[in-house]
Amino acid sequence: MIRGSTELVAIVGSPIAQVKSPENFNTWFASHGCDLAMLPIDLQETALDAFVDSLRGWRNLRGCVVTVPYKQALATRLDGLSERAGALGSVNVVRRGSDGCLLGDNVDGAGFLSAARKQGFQPAGKRALVIGCGGVGSAIAYALGEAGVGQVTLSDPCSARAGALCELLGNTFPNLEVATQYHSLEAFDLLVNASPIGMGGSDELPLPGALLDTLQPCTLVADVVTSPEITPLLHRARQLGCAIQTGPQMAFAQLGLLGAFMGVTPLEI
Ligand code: NAD
Repeated sequence: MIRGSTELVAIVGSPIAQVKSPENFNTWFASHGCDLAMLPIDLQETALDAFVDSLRGWRNLRGCVVTVPYKQALATRLDGLSERAGALGSVNVVRRGSDGCLLGDNVDGAGFLSAARKQGFQPAGKRALVIGCGGVGSAIAYALGEAGVGQVTLSDPCSARAGALCELLGNTFPNLEVATQYHSLEAFDLLVNASPIGMGGSDELPLPGALLDTLQPCTLVADVVTSPEITPLLHRARQLGCAIQTGPQMAFAQLGLLGAFMGVTPLEI
């Protein structure tokens, strides 16, 4: 129950009705006897500046999770950013300090990697293909670079996005080999679909079927799409004998990271 004494966290985006964080956090708060609650906020873009000012002055608010479409717009309005959020120009969580200072981080990539490690994926020296170089693909590729993978191949029909990410990775991780061309999937230890392809029951695959036939059973195949849980790509990968990682597994792995950054849960929940 929300009381006068309840401390708050929020999740902001637009639309917001589809997000799972409020039920996940509120269930955790209730089952652990915490006087805390998460509120969903569907914010109009014209209210962003006023919202950030309100966050600074909102004394019983510990922090805010940020989702589409405000991850980039909020990153430019905060008082400080973690190194990775600054490099990516994108935040998915904000902590409000007791002085009202707002600090942002982006744990999309760390959440992905935490889920992948639970599947047995050891990143050091591995070869990864990241399909989709938007917000989430960039965060995943950056986290793979931080974790010491040996090679990342990037794929996106928007060559400007792929090029910008290639440059960021090359400048940040001098030992990482970054490529944008590939003709077979045989050499990859990890294949990630970080594009929306396969979302919402479409039959679409993010790669041509003939290329998917070159996938080896030792490759971990991951998808960021949360609905359906088993996307057409994951279905095909499973048929080929690959281990798979779903979008909900990545989302769930982020809960502790988001909560710990806002100071409301331990890292492992
Ligand atoms: P975005 O729009 O920033 O990026 C998507 C990118 O995919 C774009 O660069 C686009 O050009 C590219 N793309 C489109 N079709 C492609 C194709 N056939 N091959 C390669 N690239 C292609 O979106 P985003 O914020 O990065 O979100 C991507 C997806 O991630 C969404 O479906 C979102 O719901 C999901 N997501 C999942 C989680 C999770 O925890 N599982 C978290 C955040 C976002």
